[in-house]
Amino acid sequence: MVFESNMSIAVKNENGEYKIRKGCFFKFKELNKEITSLNSIKIFNGEIILNIQCPLCGESHYYRYSLKELTSEGILIGGCEEIGIPIFYIGNYEKIMKKIFDYNNTNKNIYAML
Ligand SMILES: [Zn+2]
Repeated sequence: MVFESNMSIAVKNENGEYKIRKGCFFKFKELNKEITSLNSIKIFNGEIILNIQCPLCGESHYYRYSLKELTSEGILIGGCEEIGIPIFYIGNYEKIMKKIFDYNNTNKNIYAML
């Protein structure tokens, strides 16, 4: 299995900020410690399986993606099932940063219109 070692992960924390970790995709235990909202992450049977304590609704959400999907799309986005707002990104670092930037920008625009 070919899997990019430069994959990054960004997870929203309880304060609504994204914790992003670059190129440490295989250090899952350390990730769990650093990103408290990430309950578990593992790669099994060609799939990536995550359990995240949702900072938005307080429930824990399970996500399952094929690694094929990740390598072809370059990025995976998971959102809160209740509210539909993204809570994590996995994939290419630059793509993740762009998504987060775009999202923050949208928020600012909405705020400015109020
Ligand atoms: Zn949620």
